[in-house]
Amino acid sequence: MGGQPMFILSEDSQRTQGDDAQSSNIAAGKAVSESVRTTLGPRGMDKMLVSDSGDVVITNDGATILDEMDIEHPAAQMIVEVAETQEDEVGDGTTTASVLAGELLSKAEDLLEDDVHPTTIVEGYHEAASLAQEAVRANALDEEIDEDVLRKVAETSMTGKGTGDVAAEDLAETVVATVTHVQENDHVDRSNITVRTQTGGSSSATDLVEGVIVDEEPAHDNMPRSVGTPTVAVVDNDIDLKESSIDAEYNITEADQLNEAMAAEEEELKGYVDRIDSIGAKVVFVTGDIADRAKAFLAKRGILAFESVGDDDAKSIASATGASRAGSVDDLAEDDLGEADEISVQKFGDDELAFVEGGTAARSVTVFARGGTEHVTDELERALNDALDVVVAALGEDGVVPGAGATEIAIADHIRSEAASIEGRKQLAVEAFADAVDVLPRTLASNTGMDPIDALVDLRSEFESEGRAGIISEGQTGIIGDPLEYGVLDPAAVKREAVESATEASTMIVRIDDVIAAE
Ligand code: ADP
Ligand code: MG
Repeated sequence: MGGQPMFILSEDSQRTQGDDAQSSNIAAGKAVSESVRTTLGPRGMDKMLVSDSGDVVITNDGATILDEMDIEHPAAQMIVEVAETQEDEVGDGTTTASVLAGELLSKAEDLLEDDVHPTTIVEGYHEAASLAQEAVRANALDEEIDEDVLRKVAETSMTGKGTGDVAAEDLAETVVATVTHVQENDHVDRSNITVRTQTGGSSSATDLVEGVIVDEEPAHDNMPRSVGTPTVAVVDNDIDLKESSIDAEYNITEADQLNEAMAAEEEELKGYVDRIDSIGAKVVFVTGDIADRAKAFLAKRGILAFESVGDDDAKSIASATGASRAGSVDDLAEDDLGEADEISVQKFGDDELAFVEGGTAARSVTVFARGGTEHVTDELERALNDALDVVVAALGEDGVVPGAGATEIAIADHIRSEAASIEGRKQLAVEAFADAVDVLPRTLASNTGMDPIDALVDLRSEFESEGRAGIISEGQTGIIGDPLEYGVLDPAAVKREAVESATEASTMIVRIDDVIAAE
C-alpha cells in the first residue's frame, strides 16, 4: 500500500471507541433515567417542562417527560424509546421501565470495571430477565379479576398524579364503568374509548358519556339544540349548488330570466333538504359546507345540521350511531341512517360541543374530563389514559400483581436464589440484575421520605416472614406492609413489559464498543 493512509470515513465524522464509547453511552443512559426517578410512585414529584417556544407542561408521567425533553445523545435516546415502548405496549409503568434500564446500565458499568466481558453481562442479564418473568407470573393474584380489583388497579395507577380536586377513588369508579361498558365477553377494544377534555369546571365533574363528544356547533342559530332519539345522517360532501353561482355566468337580458335562475337555484337546494327530510334524518353531520339558504331551509324543518365536520369526528359519529357515510345527499338512502338516544349541543365557556349519546351501535364511549385550567385537564387526561390502559391490561391474561415494590422484592429474591446455581462470571451479572431491580422499591422508599437502605432491609425481612412486602405510603411517610391489604395492585403486564424493554435497551447499549457519528 506504499504507506498511503486510507480514509474510509469522511473527515467530519466522529469516532469513539472501546471503553470511551461504552462509558459515554452508559453515562448518557443513566442520566436520562435519573431525570425521571423522583417522579416514581404516589409521593413522586412533578416536572415542569418549558419548550423553546415557551409552552409549559407540568407532569408526573415518565413517557411525557422524556418525550418533552430534547434528547440528542443516541444512547440516551434508547432509554426514551424504552418509555415509548412501555407506553405503546401497556400504557403505564414508563417511569418504572426507564429507572430500571438506567440501573441495569449502572450495574453493568461496575461489572465492566471488574473486567466482566460485555457478552457475559448480556447473557447474564437475559437469564435474569427470564427468572424475573417467572417471578412475575408466580406473583399474579389467584382471585378473580372483578370490578373491585379493577378499581384498585385504576386507583393505584392514579395515586400521586395531579388529578385536580377529584379523588382518585371517584375517577377509578368512572374508569372501571367505562371499560366494562365497552367490554364484550373478555375483550375490550381500547379504541372505543376516548378521553375528551374541557376546561372550565371542576375535575369532579369528570364523567362517563355513553357516546361520543365532538367539537361542533349547529350550522344555523334557529336549529334545535337538542334532539331526542334522532335518526342520523353523515354526508361526506357539500350541500350546495352543483354549479356554484359565483362561477356560473348568466346571460341575463330580462328581469324574468334573473328570477328564473334564482328560482332554479332555490329549487336545487330545497331538493337536497327535501331528500334529507323525506328519508327521515333529524340530525345531519356534513363534512363539507352547507349553503346559507340550505341551512335556513334545514332550520325551518327542525333539522339539526353540522357543517365542516372533521373526518375523525365523522368517523366516530358513524361508528357510534351505526350510520353509513354517504358520498352526497343524492346517494343518501334510508338504510344509511344511524340512531342515537339523544344529540345535544352544550356550551362550555366559548366552546360548543355536540354530545351524541346512546347510539344503537354504542360501543364508543367518552370519558369527559373537566378541570379548571388546561394544565389540570392535560394531566388529568394522561392519568385517565393510564388508568384506562391498566384496567384493560388487568383484564388480559397476565392478570394483576401486588404493587408498591412488592413484586420487585419477590423478583430480586427469586433471581438471587437461582443465581447460586449459575456458573462462572455470568453469576455476577445475574446477581447484578437482582440488585438493579432493587432500585424500584428503594426509589419508592426514598420518594416517600424513608431511608432507602433501612427500607430495603425491612422489606426483605418482612418478605422472608410474610411472603409479601411493599412500601405503603401513608400520609406524610411510608410504612412496610402488604400491598394487597391496602389495595395497591398493578397489572402483571406492566412489570413484564418493564423487565423486557429495560433489559433489551441496557444490553444493547452494553454491547456497543464503537460509535461512529456522521457530522
Ligand atoms: P410509572 O410511570 O412507572 O407507572 P408511577 O409514578 O405511576 O410510575 O409509579 C408506579 C409505582 O407506584 C408502582 O410500583 C405502584 O405499585 C406504586 N404505587 C402506586 N400507588 C401506591 C401506593 N398507594 N402505595 C405504594 N405504592 C404505590
Ligand atoms: Mg403509573
